[in-house]
Amino acid sequence: MKTALITGASRGIGTACAIALAKSGFNIVLNFNNSEEKALNLKKIIEDNYTVAVLCVKADVADKAQVDDMVDKALAEFNSIDVLVNNAGVSLLKLFTDTTVEEWNTIISTNLTSVYNCCHSVLSNMIRNHSGSIINISSMWGQVGASCEVAYSASKAGVIGLTKALAKEVAPSNIRVNCVAPGVIMTDMMSSFTEEEIELLKEDIPMGEIGTAKNVADTVAFLASDRAQYITGQVIGVNGGMVV
Ligand code: NAP
Repeated sequence: MKTALITGASRGIGTACAIALAKSGFNIVLNFNNSEEKALNLKKIIEDNYTVAVLCVKADVADKAQVDDMVDKALAEFNSIDVLVNNAGVSLLKLFTDTTVEEWNTIISTNLTSVYNCCHSVLSNMIRNHSGSIINISSMWGQVGASCEVAYSASKAGVIGLTKALAKEVAPSNIRVNCVAPGVIMTDMMSSFTEEEIELLKEDIPMGEIGTAKNVADTVAFLASDRAQYITGQVIGVNGGMVV
């Protein structure tokens, strides 16, 4: 049985990815940082509904030592990590000129260095197995840039660059690396937006609707599957046509 590790699985898109991958038959490693109760609740939901095993591991993905420890625990339990979903992330909405260096460093370390940390920790196992699929969650703002989200856009553009380069480097080891770039998705990350702002956002989306975490998770499950076996180094938009 194969295993998928999902970072930031305690809420939002990560939770939906964990459910979609459990439904696809993967054992699941659920990473969380602060939301332990939510992670434990999700573990129970998955175990009650699917015949897979679930391990919850607390780790701050920005911290390489904690990530190494998490991967060691996952390998001790399941022997291999076949799919890695780098989903954990934080946003920051403010003028570039008001962004402090501490805020900049937090965004880059949580959204981009975390992807280095997790890929670096799992790759030796994937290379040994001559098999693996890594899916990085970027953002449409990493593709086109967002005003008042310069640090976030830069971190997510970095994820796209990392994806393309790493895909080329590890393709000979039969490891695929792809990126999903969501548009506007209804999760806690959208909680600072008012109803009115959300209605205005909808007007900018050709499909006229805000996306769901499941929309993103279904794409992740596809990229994790053998149906995507010739797809690597790609950035797949899940954005209702907002960025084409
Ligand atoms: P969310 O609902 O705010 O959830 C964020 C998740 O990331 C939580 O599970 C949180 O875990 C985890 N996390 C944050 N910092 C972490 C850290 N240092 N270590 C480990 N886990 C950490 O966000 P979301 O909307 O689901 O976003 C998920 C991903 O999609 C992010 O990378 C985000 O940038 C991207 N994205 C979202 C949207 C959108 O519109 N929602 C659009 C494009 C891209 P704890 O609560 O346990 O700390």
